[in-house]
Amino acid sequence: MNTDTLTPALTPASSSDLNIVFATNNPAFSARLMALMATEYPQVAVCTPDDPAARHAQVAACWHPPVDLLQRCPGLQLLQAVSAGVDHLGDILMHSGLPVSRVVDEGQQQGMLEYVLWGVLHHQRDFDLALSNQQAKIWQLHPQRQAGRMRIGVMGLGQLGGFIAARLAGLGYPVSGWAGSRKQIEQVHCYAGEAERGTFLSSCDLLVNLLPLTTATEAILDASLFAELPPGAVVMNCGRGEHLNEQDLIDALSSGHLRAAVLDVFAQEPLPKGNPLWDQAGVIVTPHMASSASGQIMLAQLVENGYRQLAGQPLRNLVDIAKGY
Ligand code: NDP
Repeated sequence: MNTDTLTPALTPASSSDLNIVFATNNPAFSARLMALMATEYPQVAVCTPDDPAARHAQVAACWHPPVDLLQRCPGLQLLQAVSAGVDHLGDILMHSGLPVSRVVDEGQQQGMLEYVLWGVLHHQRDFDLALSNQQAKIWQLHPQRQAGRMRIGVMGLGQLGGFIAARLAGLGYPVSGWAGSRKQIEQVHCYAGEAERGTFLSSCDLLVNLLPLTTATEAILDASLFAELPPGAVVMNCGRGEHLNEQDLIDALSSGHLRAAVLDVFAQEPLPKGNPLWDQAGVIVTPHMASSASGQIMLAQLVENGYRQLAGQPLRNLVDIAKGY
């Protein structure tokens, strides 16, 4: 058993009573996590929602769980997303009255920083132009753009957005950020709320979306937002596909107002082969790969919160149900 990440007081003999149901929309993903559980936490009982033992599960490990999860698992006490975002739980489970927690992980923060930095460098240093010139065997040197002349804006200044904003500022980029409430991040100009959204957007040569998906943020990346960005801006969507109005993006790219978009997340995943984004000039498609916590971290946080729930201890990384993130 891996006890490194568990609080010693939370590994009593009664911990063997813990029963976790793996409620995901991906059988291979569930199977991988359950196999890892058997290795790392063999004393914890695991099942899927179809298993009769699911009736005795106290904790659900969730990634796009079935909507009838509570009917199949009437003993549930905790819904733990095996992800940073919790939008995939849907309204019924989010408002079931059960606590909802999620993954927060340093490795995931670092992974997101690397992904965003790649997108920043790709456009700051004109690698996009060099690559398209290579297709036509054109040798064309573009003047070097200094980091200090690439203004980056981060929408959402939480665990991920706040981290990458601070790190990019440390690398010499002028960084601004936007969130619901005012944040204090060294070297980052922080904006807050709807009233300051336009000023924030007007200062972004490259915009990174790291908002959670809620009713307030759905389709936030639309024509009106793009119009507030400076001409030639780049958009990176690392949040959720439903944040983006795809047709508005295609229009903004086709008109030349936007230079490019880096899209990691889509309303329908895998992105259907017929989706025009695959072939849209200026769009880079990546398969929801920006960052992920390791299986070990997901399970350590899952098991720790499971033990905490059984012991009546405060849970880690709880979601604010009213806010939806
Ligand atoms: P957090 O919950 O830690 O932070 C959310 C931030 O968004 C907060 O700063 C919050 O502001 C702000 N926010 C929320 N709603 C609004 C709004 N209506 N207007 C302005 N600001 C708002 O989230 P994380 O940083 O952990 O994750 C962000 C998202 O990244 C996840 O929800 C997920 O969708 C996505 N993600 C994508 C991955 C990928 O591989 N592509 C990997 C992991 C996550 P305030 O605090 O003031 O309320």
